[in-house]
Amino acid sequence: MAEPQISAHRKARYRVSRRPMKTFHRIAVYCASSNQIDPAYAAAATAMGHAMADQNIGLVFGGGSVGLMGTIADAMIDRGGEVIGVIPQKLQDLELGHPGCTALHVVDTMHERKQMMMDFADAFIAMPGGFGTLEELFEVVTWAQLNFHMKPVGILNVEGFYDDLVRFIHHAVDKGFVREELRHLITVDKTPMGLLENLHQATVPDLATWLPVPPTRGT
Ligand code: AMP
Repeated sequence: MAEPQISAHRKARYRVSRRPMKTFHRIAVYCASSNQIDPAYAAAATAMGHAMADQNIGLVFGGGSVGLMGTIADAMIDRGGEVIGVIPQKLQDLELGHPGCTALHVVDTMHERKQMMMDFADAFIAMPGGFGTLEELFEVVTWAQLNFHMKPVGILNVEGFYDDLVRFIHHAVDKGFVREELRHLITVDKTPMGLLENLHQATVPDLATWLPVPPTRGT
């Protein structure tokens, strides 16, 4: 499927400027727990894991052995990469925890898990996934929007999986629900190397630059 179209005007206005590269120690990757998916997605998860391990970037993930979570963890482990899982006790009790993690943190609640994953990571990636992945993605995006963290967020758009979501984000901006300054808060690429390169260059807009100026008293 073709990439969502962005007008030349927007491209010119929002072209990413070249900045000094960030270095990442660890990236949190949110992705599917489902195994009922096309093998192309698993191949992309393996490529993502290899790209991260080769750049000496550790993986922070949901700690599961299932779906793309298990695939990316396996890929990292194959290359000797660091793999940090954070899993709630309830899921660990179902024996869903990945046994090969460098460290597997077992927590009580989903909120604790997400907070810990955010704290451990220097950047965030969503690969294809379902409700859990989308929820995790939009939580870190919302926190970035409000500068509760200043860590870049990206989507690995495998096989155009996220084309409709990217279009919807532009729609939400066009309709005034998301600020124009935040149109490219999520960086998108279809290849792991391209996405890592984008994330290295990305910055989160400072809240002060887009917060509405309060109306002057008495006017
Ligand atoms: P989903 O996209 O709905 O498959 O959910 C995947 C996301 O939710 C992952 O990033 C995990 O953080 C979490 N998750 C869902 N199911 C599991 C599981 N069985 N084990 C560990 N984490 C899970």
